[in-house]
Amino acid sequence: MDLRKFLTVNSASTTAADEANFSSSSSMDEPPAKKAKINSRKYSEDYLNYGFTWTGSVDTPLPLCVVCGNTKTNGAMVPSKLKRHLEKVHPSLVSKYKNYFERLITNSAKQSQKFEKAVRLSDKAQIASYEVAQLIAQKMKPHSIGETLIGPACRIMVKCMLGKEAETEINKIPLSNDTISRRIADMSENIAKNVHQKLNNKIFALQIDESTDISGKAQLMGFVRLINGDSIINQFLFCQELSGRTTGKEIFDCVDNFFKNSNFSWNFCTGICTDGAPAMVGNEKGFWTYAKQKNADIITTHRVYYTSRSFSSQNSSYGTNICFGRCDKNSQLY
Ligand SMILES: [Zn+2]
Repeated sequence: MDLRKFLTVNSASTTAADEANFSSSSSMDEPPAKKAKINSRKYSEDYLNYGFTWTGSVDTPLPLCVVCGNTKTNGAMVPSKLKRHLEKVHPSLVSKYKNYFERLITNSAKQSQKFEKAVRLSDKAQIASYEVAQLIAQKMKPHSIGETLIGPACRIMVKCMLGKEAETEINKIPLSNDTISRRIADMSENIAKNVHQKLNNKIFALQIDESTDISGKAQLMGFVRLINGDSIINQFLFCQELSGRTTGKEIFDCVDNFFKNSNFSWNFCTGICTDGAPAMVGNEKGFWTYAKQKNADIITTHRVYYTSRSFSSQNSSYGTNICFGRCDKNSQLY
């Protein structure tokens, strides 16, 4: 806290002798540059009688009307001008005493504190909700676990450890099934948007792999490696269900449709990495063959160091939303 504020406010109550001593000593000790500051008008507690407090810097305080919030220039920091504002703008308050305006200041401070607290709590609750949604997605748990298990468990723990008041705060975190689902969709969309922006008209290498989930449905996953600024990054690109058999044509159509829907061009695809399955590397009907028909310069490699968790353990009912996370740090395209 800047104590000079109180020194300035109390200056009105200093005695004439003090002022004489001050002026004589300051004329000897203070450098000439500081004398200019003496010209700025200082605030006096008495000005509260006219409904004015102050704002701005200690050196150049500005009069602030506690009724309408109007701020005036430092030059208006004189009783006559402040009184005129009160009489003209707030004539009904002319007869009010100083303590009335003091109460106004106190109430206004309390209101702003309340408002700030409400905003802070709301923001925190939203952040907590997103964090929990991310955790649920990463752990591949049902969206309903937020309201059926995580929320109640949290409330019990917080109530036991921190008390009833903390439990009330925890209750403000939205964890319903729909909210979690929406949060995950939001984050998926955001990540997809970021990847699309990064990929826009830039060369990239594609790694794809297909797997079967626990319901027996074939899922095709795509990862990209691209140049982002000064570094090369790996990024999860898509997870699409293959409708029919996992043939080279089926896989190619799936990737090609994704490219078309995302406005990606095969011309920017410089490399493709897959496993050595015939559907991928087959000379006539493999995915590589179809891809090279789109861009003959694509370099193909069949070596996949796939270190992400096996997709077969995931439940397809979560759709692509569960796969919004970035590619595993150790994943390699080549
Ligand atoms: Zn006013």
